[in-house]
Amino acid sequence: MKHRLTIHFPSEAVHQPITYRLAVDYDIAAKILRAQIAPNRSGTMVVELSGDIDELAAAEEWLEGLGLQLDRAQGEIRIDRQRCVDCGICTSVCPSGALSSGLPSWQLNFDAQRCLVCEQCIPSCPLEAIALVLESR
Ligand code: SF4
Ligand code: SF4
Repeated sequence: MKHRLTIHFPSEAVHQPITYRLAVDYDIAAKILRAQIAPNRSGTMVVELSGDIDELAAAEEWLEGLGLQLDRAQGEIRIDRQRCVDCGICTSVCPSGALSSGLPSWQLNFDAQRCLVCEQCIPSCPLEAIALVLESR
C-alpha cells in the first residue's frame, strides 16, 4: 500500500534520519518527491511511503510523536487545456512520465494513472495551467 504525505518539520526535527528509521523499524520505503529543508530551519517534504498498511499507520503515529505535522490531504493534478499552449516545459520536470508530448502533434498528454502528485510541474508552467485540486482523506 502507498501513502503520499506532506511532512512539515519543525527546526528541531530536521536532523532526524526519518527515511532510515522508516526502513529499519517499519519496513517502509520512503520515496522523496520534493524537499525544502535547510539546516537548523523548518522544512517541508513530500514523500511517498510504501509498505504494509498496519506498519504505515504505526509509522505515521511515530512521525507525529516526533512533532512532525503530517498533511494527508490527497489531490489530483488538473491541466487547464484553455491555458496550455503545449510548450512541453512541464514534461521536463515530471519524474514519472505522467506528462509527455511528442510527434506528430506535440500536444501535451497527461496520464493521471502515472501521476505521483509531487507537484513539481505546477511552478514549471509559465502560463499557470497546472493546478492541484485537493480533497481530504
Ligand atoms: S505532479 Fe506533475 S510532475 Fe509530479 S508526477 Fe504528477 S504530473 Fe508529473
Ligand atoms: S508548461 Fe504549461 S503551457 Fe507548457 S505544456 Fe505544460 S501545462 Fe502546457
